[in-house]
Amino acid sequence: MASYGSPLYVYSRTAIENNWHEFDLAFGQHPHLVCYAVKANSNIAVLNVLAKIGAGFDIVSIGELERVLTAGGQASKCVFSGVAKTKEEISRGLEAGIRCFNVESSAELDRIEQVAAEMDTQAPISIRVNPNVDAKTHPYISTGLKENKFGVDIDDAIALYEKANNFKHINIQGLDCHIGSQITDVSPFIDALDKVLDLITKLNDRGIEIAHLDLGGGVGIRYDDEVTINISDYIGKIIEKVGNLEIILEPGRAIVGNTGTFITKVEFLKQNSDKSFAIIDGAMNDLLRPAFYNAYHQVLPVNKNAIGIDARWDLVGPICETGDFLAKDRQLSLTEGDYLAIMSAGAYGFTMSSNYNSRPRVAEVMVSNDTHNLIRKRETIQDLFNTEYLIND
Ligand SMILES: *Cc1c(COP(=O)(O)O)cnc(C)c1O
Repeated sequence: MASYGSPLYVYSRTAIENNWHEFDLAFGQHPHLVCYAVKANSNIAVLNVLAKIGAGFDIVSIGELERVLTAGGQASKCVFSGVAKTKEEISRGLEAGIRCFNVESSAELDRIEQVAAEMDTQAPISIRVNPNVDAKTHPYISTGLKENKFGVDIDDAIALYEKANNFKHINIQGLDCHIGSQITDVSPFIDALDKVLDLITKLNDRGIEIAHLDLGGGVGIRYDDEVTINISDYIGKIIEKVGNLEIILEPGRAIVGNTGTFITKVEFLKQNSDKSFAIIDGAMNDLLRPAFYNAYHQVLPVNKNAIGIDARWDLVGPICETGDFLAKDRQLSLTEGDYLAIMSAGAYGFTMSSNYNSRPRVAEVMVSNDTHNLIRKRETIQDLFNTEYLIND
């Protein structure tokens, strides 16, 4: 903190590498590719660490593709997800030579065919099907039910594959699904797997070959006391069922979530008869998950021996919103000036941050063994408006 200031994100390189290896090693000799979902944490240093150990990447925009390429990742290990790929994104993906587009609608398939035709090339695709399983997670991060915007209904998938098969510039590679995020029970994944394997059999019967099966991301982590999925158990169950089919996974949160901490400083303590508020320098614009999903993050004092006022504190930020809290009702011993570590903040932390209330976005640091490096400098006040213009009159 002394050198980097507060608030601050801090990540562990070793933990990121270990988490990716856990997925990769669990596959053993089975053909597979573990594509880290870039949206969870897209700092180029994080991507670079993963690229160096052989990771693939799941991207959802041209911006993420350029990040991966800048960080030394290989386009040939990128799968491109997302419901609204623009023509520019498709042509850039084709030009870079990405591994596969995960197609989310019939209209998008038409657009990919058209762009590939204009470029006189073949576009590798898989179709994202919606297996209609309930991931039993927060409704905002559940994506595998019929009623949400992602993917195509499993009952419509055969017709869409047949259409794709007739296109001259489409090269069918795989089948894809992603049922949600922060899933802590393996059974929805296995239900989805059974459904898509059944679909693959039907496609094979119609002469449509599927070379890989992409089962998406969504493996949950422990934020509080959740018992979550054992990764080698999950991957073992997949391997049992899929024969020689190549498997792609797209974990995001499970790779980086528990590798990052958000450090914040106690500015003021404010107690009345009902409530104890610790007003901190970090806020919902820096770490949105508590305000957005009512998410729980463990809070630890940076100085373990800190002694202050014992109470059950709500940690609230400086933003003018009642929803601006990072934690509620936590037993802590606090003094003004203390630093607190908001744990498990490595995924969907910095990437969801904003400049709301004209707050500069914070710095990010990576710790590797005995060293630490700044991997993003704190924004300045000038950065907040240097792309804005006054009108002249
Ligand atoms: C968000 C997302 C992921 C990553 O989800 P996690 O829960 O972070 O593992 C993977 N694939 C797709 C298509 C996504 O939208």
